[in-house]
Amino acid sequence: MALGSIREKLTCEGVDAFLVTHLVNVRYLSGFTGSFAAVVISPSEALFVTDARYEVQAEEEVGPPFTRLTLKPGQRLSQLIIEGGWRSIAVEDTITLAQYNRIKGSLSDVQLRTWSGVVEGFRRFKTPEEVLKIKKAVELAWKAFREVKGKVCPGVIERDLALELEFTMRKRGAEAGAFDFIVASGPRSALPHGAASSKEIHGGDLVVFDFGARWEGYHSDITRTLKVGTWEKWEKEIYTLVLEAQGAALEALKPGIKAQEVDAIARRVIEKGGYGAYFGHGLGHGVGLEVHEAPSLSPVSEDTLEIGTIFTIEPGIYIPNKGGVRIEDMVYLSPEGPKILTEEVEKEI
Ligand code: ZN
Ligand code: ZN
Repeated sequence: MALGSIREKLTCEGVDAFLVTHLVNVRYLSGFTGSFAAVVISPSEALFVTDARYEVQAEEEVGPPFTRLTLKPGQRLSQLIIEGGWRSIAVEDTITLAQYNRIKGSLSDVQLRTWSGVVEGFRRFKTPEEVLKIKKAVELAWKAFREVKGKVCPGVIERDLALELEFTMRKRGAEAGAFDFIVASGPRSALPHGAASSKEIHGGDLVVFDFGARWEGYHSDITRTLKVGTWEKWEKEIYTLVLEAQGAALEALKPGIKAQEVDAIARRVIEKGGYGAYFGHGLGHGVGLEVHEAPSLSPVSEDTLEIGTIFTIEPGIYIPNKGGVRIEDMVYLSPEGPKILTEEVEKEI
């Protein structure tokens, strides 16, 4: 489907070929999971290019409609493009300036242009197989969290908890952690991206856990905030407000709604509660082959939430030097309505 649409775009814009170099996009189109490859799509051809290290792996992973090519030592991708005889090429706008300049330098007779978000545009709509992979990544994460949660007590080091959580996931079969987990306790819980540190957990700490697993290339992303001991009044207040903001956003979800609007609904709840200044990030993001992908849910997002998308809803309140709360769930906007993929992970106080 993606190939057909890309070919239509080529014809419409009068471009001879589209060069895909962003590895996640190469994987999405071809199924290749290695670390060096590119795909070239023209109206009549679909080339998959890698080097000798990946020749055997590519044979196993990449089949029709792709024609596999292996670069010889010292051979450059640009040579293949020259041999292809294409006069105008579109490249992804995510390539580095150095890559762009290199391509431009070696293809002086070829007209170059950049395309933005083309493969990403397909990736935001998940196929049933992709949904299953993400559900598996979610399951691996929450089951590990359920095991490790009981070990959150005074004297334990944040980093050890993060390690234990990742170890448990991987023992259960996860390919890897989805990212460097956040375990942020006490005043550190007010750091929205407080990577697990050598800090010890103290009695009375709020502890923010942001974690996920990777399964067949697909990710999960979940946040829960725990409390060691009895909740203080202000903690309960911000926790309840964050939960309420999240609930309002979840309630509003329907196909075609503007992501910006969903962000505003959650933000309004936190603002009304008097903590608007302490919610400094967007409400959520798409999750798939990358932990952060389209659609984006933020005050400046132009995206709409459509059937087939999977994204997070993760409001937070962070009071500097005091503490913070974030609750993050993943939602699949299915043809039957929104489904919370992470509902197994308790979030009541
Ligand atoms: Zn997260
Ligand atoms: Zn997230």
